[in-house]
Amino acid sequence: MSQIKLYIDSQPVVVEKGTTIIEAAKLLKIKIPTLCYMNLPHYHYENKPAGCRVCVVEVKGRNNLAPSCSTVCSEGMEVLTSTARVLNARSTVLQLILSDHPKECLTCSKAGHCELQDCSVKFGMRHIPVQRYATISSYEKDISPSIVREVDKCIMCRRCETMCNDVQTVGALHSMYRGFNAVVATAFQQPLLESTCTFCGQCVAMCPTAALTEKDNTPELIKLLNDPDIIVVAQTAPAVRTALGESFDMAPGTNVTGEMVTALKRLGFDYVFDTDFAADLTIMEEASELIDRVTRFAQGDETVKLPMFTSCCPAWVNFFETNFPDMLDYPSSARSPQQMFGSVVKSYLAEKWEVKRRRIAVVSIMPCLAKKYECTRNEFMDDENPDVDLSISTRELAYLIKGANLDLKTLPKGHFDDPLGESTGAAVIFGATGGVMEAAIRTAYDWITGESLQEVDFTVLRGHEGIRFAEVDIKGTILKVAVVHGLGNARKIVEKVKNGELDLHAIEVMACPGGCIGGGGQPLHYGNESLLKARQMALYVEDKSKRYRKSHENPFIKLIYKEYLGEPLLGKSHKLLHTHYTHKLNRKQN
Ligand code: SF4
Repeated sequence: MSQIKLYIDSQPVVVEKGTTIIEAAKLLKIKIPTLCYMNLPHYHYENKPAGCRVCVVEVKGRNNLAPSCSTVCSEGMEVLTSTARVLNARSTVLQLILSDHPKECLTCSKAGHCELQDCSVKFGMRHIPVQRYATISSYEKDISPSIVREVDKCIMCRRCETMCNDVQTVGALHSMYRGFNAVVATAFQQPLLESTCTFCGQCVAMCPTAALTEKDNTPELIKLLNDPDIIVVAQTAPAVRTALGESFDMAPGTNVTGEMVTALKRLGFDYVFDTDFAADLTIMEEASELIDRVTRFAQGDETVKLPMFTSCCPAWVNFFETNFPDMLDYPSSARSPQQMFGSVVKSYLAEKWEVKRRRIAVVSIMPCLAKKYECTRNEFMDDENPDVDLSISTRELAYLIKGANLDLKTLPKGHFDDPLGESTGAAVIFGATGGVMEAAIRTAYDWITGESLQEVDFTVLRGHEGIRFAEVDIKGTILKVAVVHGLGNARKIVEKVKNGELDLHAIEVMACPGGCIGGGGQPLHYGNESLLKARQMALYVEDKSKRYRKSHENPFIKLIYKEYLGEPLLGKSHKLLHTHYTHKLNRKQN
């Protein structure tokens, strides 16, 4: 690719042809402010609608100011990023945006994390000379079980639209109208719950204001923690422990498992368990199902569907239920680890503790917003009592810890409670793309060969590419697999399976970039690739440090199958750990 040389604030810089001014400026460590621009290298997408006009710069020889996010560099170009004309234009644009924006910053759910607020502070905005008196408050809050939309707070950056349509191919959010009335809405202006939204939360992860936020479940949780008649049980997902520290000024990828457990105990949870235990359960069931399907397929059973898709990501489940209703027998019937955990606590542990399931509240701490919706699905209720009562995100946990005046940095390390606190390295890597497949293969290898696999790191399954293929040689049996992250990539691969273009045994799909480490409920990362890599690396480090690195070697997993569940896939295991899928366009009646 050819290169060109230009000057930004009189400093020379050489860039590839096609580079935008905002990206060229980054090379010189010049940070041009913006509210709409978003660069997602892992998805190969840039959001550059030149919509907010906060990033304007002067280009010598050009009459009007240029939006730096969408203006491509040219040879010899001279760019000025902070002249009086530029600063005046940016301030005017910001004043216009603020004139139409609610002023409830003290109580706003994005307070302290809002890019509009940041911009306002950076620009020294002390008053807003123009005010719009007719408000657009006709837009009511749209509250789904996972995501809350406050259209009044939308600044039309259209990042959510890019995530929803171009990246994830979900097609739930679209911009409508022009001028002050412009909004991002659902296709028929129906509530999110009735739209095609999968609740992956990637729109929330990129929204610069509080137009899209998680449904806050902390008030209900506080009520539960204050109820002396309820036993409140926490389960924490693997991706949470490598991101939570970021909310307490720790470096990305700092593992805070022990401190998190202590914080949860101090917040009043009666038991703190690890969702990783249920990830081990998932592998017991999914690996059994995969071996069963491959065996029956080889024997000519035409009812068997291959490749088997993983089913632990609820946004992916929502996606295939909505978009591929004729392929509902391809995904594994195994429940997600969150739901396996809930049903085991409210059956196995309830029996052990001799208490009724309604006296137990299971609360999950997840990197995920789709898990909030998953808790409400009818399939996971017993007499209207949910297996998992509430799910809160990593961000919500950080708010709770701070609200309790605790600082994660200074807390001693605690330990998960037994018996659902013991887990393996295989379960830990569930949090990163490729981890579920790697964990399943570690177990499948031992079961198929009858030997104990020594080298358990299947690095061929790791990485960042959106779609990855691999062949794993299990002593002569070649297992052909794929790993996919991002729903746009998932759509591509499912279409190929549908058209008979792929010959595979299994496909792992996770909806979020990088897998759960990039989940919609994690501390906001805005597509920062190095941050996602640091979180991923921390999971692989923890995997290596574990005493057991294969799910079937977890002693408590052996125990629960022996004394309660019986055989994988059968009887009680099937009842408690598996589910079914239906074509649900209108999830309100789920
Ligand atoms: Fe949730 Fe993980 Fe799926 Fe994202 S990838 S929707 S965080 S389960």
